[in-house]
Amino acid sequence: MMPKNTNENSLLANAQASFDKAARMLNLDPNIYAILRSNERALTVSLPVEMDDGHVEVFTGYRAQHTTARGPGKGGIRYHLAVTQEEVTALAQLMTWKCSLVNVPFSGAKGGVSVDPRKLSENELRRLTRRYTYAISPIIGPNTDIPAPDMNTDEKTMTWITDTYSMIKGESSGEIVTGKPVSLGGSVGRVNATGLGVAIAAKQALLRNDYDLDNCTAVVQGFGNVGTWSARHIADRGLKIIAVSDISGGYYNPKGLNIEKMIAYVKQSESRALEGYSASGVDSISNDDLLCLPCDVLVPAAMENQIHLDNANEIQAKFVVEGANGPTTPGADAILNERGVIVVPDILANAGGVVVSYFEWVQGREGFYWTADEVKDRLHRFMEVAFNDMYDFSLKRRVSLRDSAMMLAVQRVAEAIALRGVFP
Ligand code: NAD
Repeated sequence: MMPKNTNENSLLANAQASFDKAARMLNLDPNIYAILRSNERALTVSLPVEMDDGHVEVFTGYRAQHTTARGPGKGGIRYHLAVTQEEVTALAQLMTWKCSLVNVPFSGAKGGVSVDPRKLSENELRRLTRRYTYAISPIIGPNTDIPAPDMNTDEKTMTWITDTYSMIKGESSGEIVTGKPVSLGGSVGRVNATGLGVAIAAKQALLRNDYDLDNCTAVVQGFGNVGTWSARHIADRGLKIIAVSDISGGYYNPKGLNIEKMIAYVKQSESRALEGYSASGVDSISNDDLLCLPCDVLVPAAMENQIHLDNANEIQAKFVVEGANGPTTPGADAILNERGVIVVPDILANAGGVVVSYFEWVQGREGFYWTADEVKDRLHRFMEVAFNDMYDFSLKRRVSLRDSAMMLAVQRVAEAIALRGVFP
């Protein structure tokens, strides 16, 4: 069931509306509001790429930096046909709030290329990535703006960016990106960081509301990076995972699913999906029905706009922990809030990845690398402090966790701007 109200689905309009709301609730200084309402810098680049058959294709790439008030820009690079300046602008703003909320010294940025990467060979993708890196190199840097993987980009893309940027600068510049392979200065614990962060957030939400973790159930929508690692780490904390889904549909067992077996099944399957998975006691269920199952914790970890005006009243979970970015539309969020469903917002729940990206950047700058346990312990500390700051602020101001998260995030950035003053 797709949402009917399409006005609800503009990423930029939603991002600006949630900033406006936080600004109103904080009674934000109008000068600071005006600064934060606009983007600091945006670059659009034209990218001629020689294709394998010798003809030249010209792609369009973007990099947007929302603010640099709390430190260098930080944000992913996505390869997708739907990438536009408007999209990266909205996503850069969201990165500002996410970095501020988990208190890492970065500001928000985002970039991408409008391309269908499935249609390019590996050599074409490498040439595109190198040209894009060259084109945005005047505005990125280890102290100015540090890209990372996002939709359809990965460790390999980050390796090409690192190499290209290092060639341009004539020096080894590993800290130009995060999300590198460990053998090239990446951090251990990066691959599961977002899912672990989701599990830490879910646990904190349950504990703060006096739930006994061993008697709780969870449902996870999406079985990719965030979904699998969330399910695994949530199960490790004692909850029973009763349903999961991916693009092939949902799988439900009220007695609990064997997540490790399901992950192993996906790994060996040709489609890299749960399609065809069967086990004793497991029933098929549609993605729409899965979202409405009775459970304690629902983790939407697939894509945006999954909980919308048409299904918000049917959600039976007591907590929604947003693994994906923007899985709940603003209208649905208001309904959940009204119904007493506690929503742990995306900018907190899925911030584990950006926290470990920060760790990777720190380790690269120090040239000294941490153990897996050190990364895990520090991630726990960052996520728990951020969760409790958000939770306490929401109690103090009698607002939802989403409003609290945005208010705290905006307040910190506003404070930085007020301290720095307006240049010149
Ligand atoms: P992914 O591509 O690894 O996994 C996506 C999963 O969703 C797949 O299992 C896919 O089959 C499933 N899916 C797609 N459409 C579906 C549908 N209609 N119903 C049910 N399942 C569906 O992506 P990911 O990296 O896990 O990212 C998922 C979400 O989390 C995105 O919104 C992303 O922006 C967000 N996110 C990811 C990270 C990260 O570190 N990977 C960090 C922060 C936020």
